[in-house]
Formats: sequence, structure tokens, C-alpha cells
Amino acid sequence: MDGEHPDGSGATNGTPSTAWSPSSWRTKPIKQQVIYDDQSAVDKALTKLQRVPPIVTPTEIWKLRRSLAEVAQGKAFLLQGGDCAELFDYCNADAIDSKIKLLLQMSLVLIWGGNKPVVRIARMAGQYAKPRSSPMETVDGKQVPSFRGDILNGYPLDQREIDPDRLVQAYFHSAATLNYVRAQLASGIADLHKPMEWHLGHIGDPELQRKYTTIVDSISESLRFMRTVGADTAGQLETVDLFTSHEGLLLEYEESLTRKLKHPSNRTPPPPTTNPPTAPPKVSPLTGGALTDPTLIPTPEPTTGYYNTSAHFLWVGDRTRQPDHAHIEYLRGIENPLGIKVGPTTTAADLTALLHTLNPRNEPGKLTLITRYGAPHIAALLPLHIAAVRETGQTVVWQCDPMHGNTRSTSSGIKTRSFAAIFDELAAALRIHAECGSFLGGVHLELTGDAVTECTGGSQGLRDADLGARYETFCDPRLNEKQALELAFLVAGSQRR
Ligand code: PEP
Ligand code: MN
Repeated sequence: MDGEHPDGSGATNGTPSTAWSPSSWRTKPIKQQVIYDDQSAVDKALTKLQRVPPIVTPTEIWKLRRSLAEVAQGKAFLLQGGDCAELFDYCNADAIDSKIKLLLQMSLVLIWGGNKPVVRIARMAGQYAKPRSSPMETVDGKQVPSFRGDILNGYPLDQREIDPDRLVQAYFHSAATLNYVRAQLASGIADLHKPMEWHLGHIGDPELQRKYTTIVDSISESLRFMRTVGADTAGQLETVDLFTSHEGLLLEYEESLTRKLKHPSNRTPPPPTTNPPTAPPKVSPLTGGALTDPTLIPTPEPTTGYYNTSAHFLWVGDRTRQPDHAHIEYLRGIENPLGIKVGPTTTAADLTALLHTLNPRNEPGKLTLITRYGAPHIAALLPLHIAAVRETGQTVVWQCDPMHGNTRSTSSGIKTRSFAAIFDELAAALRIHAECGSFLGGVHLELTGDAVTECTGGSQGLRDADLGARYETFCDPRLNEKQALELAFLVAGSQRR
């Protein structure tokens, strides 16, 4: 890969008549712009970012694109989750371990429910930039700059000034986080030969206890059976894929980590197949083995192109997805799979324009539509968006984010979400897709592996009054470990029905 990105090159993935380059977004109107005081410090940081090695590689990015193509065709399910605002401080072993374990356990439950492999993407190792409704906020009667994520400023009031050095710190925290994730996966944190702790003791309702225990027993039984019959010949029980993602918000950072793949021959060729063409594929639904076998996935790979090497998957937020603005201009030129947040204010015309701009060749797996309407609104809006996408002839992944349309304030002003509303939107998404002849391909959740008290409800029965106990988020409220797992149980249960 090239360390530099020459400006003015032709578009790789956009409208051919308009030149795209990693910096062409700078000519477009932009939302959520950052005004830096010290431009020379910004230039120094960006120059550094243009030199550092990629955090993820094109080979990995294409592996995810192939996996998402499977999701788009209904052959796999997508689980994406993590913090709303990841802090540099979460770059520590315990926080990372608990998130990996939670995503793994949830994925096992979802595999059981949907009887298909699960693709896992963490909102992690780079989810450091946050869009805000206003650049300033009032704290204790004083106007202060809003917290815009650790990549720009700090949450403590004495750190609210934008600090360009944080751009470089973001890179190193991302790299350290992903390095530990890779090391833990290679060392067997996801090894299904090891017994897992499911912690179901908190569930007061005996009927629910029984239901969840049945699911866990069934999963454990399947794993035991696979080990006994030696189904693990390809080592598929030992590790899993875990991809990374964040909102593609801070374009100067994203631009600086964009690299052009000049020599496709540098990519590692797929390993030779051990299956004769006529033999049944060695598929392990429990581990998603089919997705790791490149011989089963005929999707073409790119020759050359631009890659955002800061994460495997980027999404564009609800506030920055204007089709003719800077964020879409940047995203249209990169080869990474992309998510688009789709909400109550997304018009069918905008959605159509976004699909044409971001996926002009209609490649399944390139685009994931992340719908986030709110439980009361999904029934009126989702069918219209499904119809609009159908009109374009595109094959997308439909993913439900049941978090962002269901935020509410308690009477004492705490931002929370109720588990019931989250589940309602998810259940409605499953049902409405089926009614419209479509299908739900995945879920997008804000969660943490820690025992926080930020969302109400779930089988712990958290009430508004309980939120103070461990309210630790610096942005939106997250499901805690128990609530997240319970959501997976509920989705799996309704998929099995
Ligand atoms: C988010 O995912 O944290 C977020 C800000 O979402 P949205 O853009 O959908 O509001
Ligand atoms: Mn959020």
C-alpha cells in the first residue's frame, strides 16, 4: 500500500464524472464541523497519521464485505455492538475482555435462534468521535463546549477545549485496543472448548429462567456434540472473527488513514481449498465456519482502490448523511463496507440518492441500512423505506438499531432507554420485514460488558430510581451485560417461533 494519497485521482466508487480523492470532501458543505484554534498542531497530527501503518488491512476489509454479502442474502446474521462513545480509558484489558465475551455469547444465542452464522462487528477500537446537537452546552449554569468524543476533547470540564494531539492519541488507542483483541482471540478467549459462564441467577421470573436455561443447555449440548464427533477439524471452535467499526464522522482523521492499494498482488491469496468441488461444504453454524471458508463465497475482490484503514466498517450518522455533503463525498470513494443510519427524517428520495452514490455497482454486502425510528414510529416508516430500496433494485443488509429512536429523559432529567421499547422496535422490525417480503439481517446495539445501570427494565427490573447506582456513560445509555444477553435470548426466541 501507498503511504500517501495523491489528490485529484479518479473516483473508484462514485460518480465517474466527478473526481474523487481522499480530500475531495473538503469542497462540500459539512455538518458537525470542528473549528480548531491551532492549525499548525492539526497539520502536524494529520501528517503523523498519514505515515503510520494501517490498523486494519484490505484483505480483512474484503473478508467482512464477503461476510456481509452473505448477510444481505439471508445466509448469515449481523451483530454489531459497543459503546456509544468509546473513551481512551476503555482501552484496558478488563473492559475489552468483557465486551468480547458478551458479543461472543450473544452471537451464540443468535446462531441458535436463527440457525445461521453470525457476523460480529464491535463498535470499538475507534468509536471516539460524537455528533452533538449543539457545540455548546450549559453545565451548572455556565456555557461550556460540548463533549465531542475523546478524539477531540475530554469529558471533564477542564478538558473541553479541542486538542489536536488527541487525533494521534485516537490512532494509538485504536491500535492498542485492536492489538489486544487480536491477541486475546489468538490466545483462545473465544475458544468454545472452554465452558462459558452464563450468569442467569439474577432472573427472578422462574418461567424466564427456565426458557433461557433451556437455550443455554441446547447451545452447550450442540458444542459438546460437535467436539465429540470431531466436527472441529478446521479448528473452527477455537476462534472467531471480530471486526471493528465506528461512525465516520471526523473526516480529517478518516482522510489521513485512507490508503490506496496499488498492488493487489500484495494481498494474501485465499488458502487452497481442501474440499473437492462436489463435497458438501464444511459448515459450522455455531462458529460461522462457512464465512471463514473463502471457497464458498464467490464474491469478486477488488483490484485496486482506496481503503479506510482505521476500521473495517464505517457508518454515516443520522446528522451527517445529506447526499450532497462532505461525509457522503468521503465515503463514496472507499472500498470499506458502509452503514447508513436511516431515521424518521430520511426521505425516500435521499435514501435512493444515497444508495446510488455509495453503491453504484449494486454490490451486496457493500451497504447496511441501520434503521433507528423509535418503537412508536417503525410501523409507519420502515415499509416506505423497504419499498424505496426495492425500487432501486439494490440488495442491502437491513439492520435494526432499536436504541437511538427510544431515548427518553426521566423526571429528574437522566437520559435513559427502556428495555421494553428497545425490544418492541426490534420485534417490530422482524415482523415488518417479514410482512413486506424482506428480512431483518442484523441488530445494532449500544452495550457494555459492565454492570452499569443506564437503561431501565430487563429481568433485573431496573427502574428510573435505580439509574443512579452505576450510571457511567458519557453519551447515550447502554444495555448492561444482562440486558444485552436477554435481548439476544428474546430475539432468538422469536426467530425460533
Ligand atoms: C450513534 O450511533 O451513536 C448515533 C449518534 O446514532 P445516530 O446517528 O443514529 O443518531
Ligand atoms: Mn449513541
